[in-house]
Amino acid sequence: MRTIAAVVLALVLLVAPPARAAAPADAALEPATATFVLGNVQFLLVHELAHLVLGEFQVPLLGPEEDAADYLAAAALIRGGQRDPALRARNGAYLLAAADAQRMAWSRGTELGAPVPYWDTHALTIQRFYKIVCLLYGADPVTYADLPQRAGLPTARAAGCAAEFARASRGIDWLIASYGRKPGEPAGAALEIRYEAVPTLATGSVVAALRQAGLVEELVARVGELFRLPAPATIVFRRCGRAEAAWQPSSRELVVCYELLDTLQRMALRRPG
Ligand SMILES: [Zn+2]
Repeated sequence: MRTIAAVVLALVLLVAPPARAAAPADAALEPATATFVLGNVQFLLVHELAHLVLGEFQVPLLGPEEDAADYLAAAALIRGGQRDPALRARNGAYLLAAADAQRMAWSRGTELGAPVPYWDTHALTIQRFYKIVCLLYGADPVTYADLPQRAGLPTARAAGCAAEFARASRGIDWLIASYGRKPGEPAGAALEIRYEAVPTLATGSVVAALRQAGLVEELVARVGELFRLPAPATIVFRRCGRAEAAWQPSSRELVVCYELLDTLQRMALRRPG
């Protein structure tokens, strides 16, 4: 039996202190905050959906599933924007936000002397940061020409990023060709979305931004186009006492904890300018 899909941004849970001041609780998110929060939610949702797909179809993997889920998420989002300039700009900004959160988590952990989880199934947050940066640059070295320098990505790694993206992209092509919905096949089982009652107005403002953007609906529609799920599943937003997101095969729920949305909102207020 598969273990529960692992926690995203685990280090953040350890190191993100309470917000110094509440955000305007019932107001719309500021654009920069919305980009940071929605970008991270998009990345973690696609990462968890990757776990769902890899698990549902028992896709053979060489190497850690966490790495596969990260590569799948980043490369799929980059590919999603390749035929639509507006989507390309949005997904690029969202992926940079997801990368930023990983770097912030790493910096914060370092500042506080938090133990480095070398044992974890996830790559270290700083490695996940460079992974996303490398794929973005590798997919579009013109748009992101200055990204390696800004991110401190050494030339030795940057030189291989185009090949790294191409390999991830071929992996996605293979996944879809091997396990995807064939032309003319009916849709698979439903992937529902459920928002439970929000605990605070601040959480509510994130949920409102998510719903307004239609981000979750967009991802669910894409999964349904690409794959026929063998059984229904639900994406549930709920309070759970910890800041995480996880695909839970036993309950067939992809749970996004409201505490994670709150943590991301606090991080957005602290991100470097
Ligand atoms: Zn994971």
